[in-house]
Amino acid sequence: MRANNNNKARRSRQPVSVVTGAAGFLGSHLTDLLLARGHRVIGIDNFITGNVQNIAHLGGNPAFKFIQQDVTEFLFLNEPVDFVWHFASPASPFDYLNFPIQTLKVGSLGTHKALGLAKEKKARFLLASTSEIYGDPLAHPQPEEYWGNVNPIGPRGCYDEAKRFAEALTMAYHREHKVATRIVRIFNTYGPRMRLNDGRVVPAFVSQALKNKPVTVFGEGKQTRSFCYVSDLIEGIYRLMMSRYDLPMNIGNPAEMTVRQFAEEIIHATKSRSRIVFKPLPQDDPKQRRPDITKARTILKWEPKVPLARGLTDTIAYFRTKV
Ligand code: UDP
Repeated sequence: MRANNNNKARRSRQPVSVVTGAAGFLGSHLTDLLLARGHRVIGIDNFITGNVQNIAHLGGNPAFKFIQQDVTEFLFLNEPVDFVWHFASPASPFDYLNFPIQTLKVGSLGTHKALGLAKEKKARFLLASTSEIYGDPLAHPQPEEYWGNVNPIGPRGCYDEAKRFAEALTMAYHREHKVATRIVRIFNTYGPRMRLNDGRVVPAFVSQALKNKPVTVFGEGKQTRSFCYVSDLIEGIYRLMMSRYDLPMNIGNPAEMTVRQFAEEIIHATKSRSRIVFKPLPQDDPKQRRPDITKARTILKWEPKVPLARGLTDTIAYFRTKV
């Protein structure tokens, strides 16, 4: 009876979402989408890699509340919550090399706190997981059933293992506490609000090209990635949260290319005079990566829509204002 009353109360008011990592690249785009779809949003961030500029436009919006807090600490909210979107984490190889312990803590302790909040509020929970849980994959493209090939003690281990732990904890809360959970495995994503100096390939190449400086391709540039535009990704994640699917799901763009081809695309799109230079390949850099998105296509009726050229135009326009 109480559950029925709770459900009725929920339906009769505006949905409330908590977004951890709300000042980050993905967290801030997700916050915008939730506000546009009528949610009230409580954003949490400690600005370790997030940027206040990403949420500055929400100042004065009565549907948005911001709490500056480290999500590894106890989360107390004196109000109802319907959805918890756990996006807080350093997310670029450069960032998690700089903050290995914080990365491990937010993936483990932070996920524990965010799940605890969801359990307490009887909210639905979504974990932002990653293609990194597949490590340097031996299966290609990567389906969700693939268990991965991760070096736990290498430089990427702090991120990969934290996210693997986060997935395990999410499933444990689902099975033991019956929390309604979702797990999205996010593949390489790009768009406005990426941090210029986060070391990832898109900000690195675009800023180098805009300055007509050498474009630094690691290794021989034969490693592959596939790049999803941020609006496509966020739409897929929203659909996953609203679906009934509680096992991990890949969201990403299956259009695969080598890093060298990508460098050429960027030089072309920026009309740059840059040339390509080759630098050593970082340890454990995955040789190939491409999502199998069969599940997203069939269950969510989702697939990416924004072609690379269009996504790059918007991204480059954003970076022009920053370099
Ligand atoms: N990369 C590169 N030059 C750079 C930055 C990255 O060649 O200045 C390569 C990197 O070695 C990797 C790919 O681009 O193979 C994507 O790197 P990113 O850091 O964006 O993320 P990852 O997919 O490795 O998590």
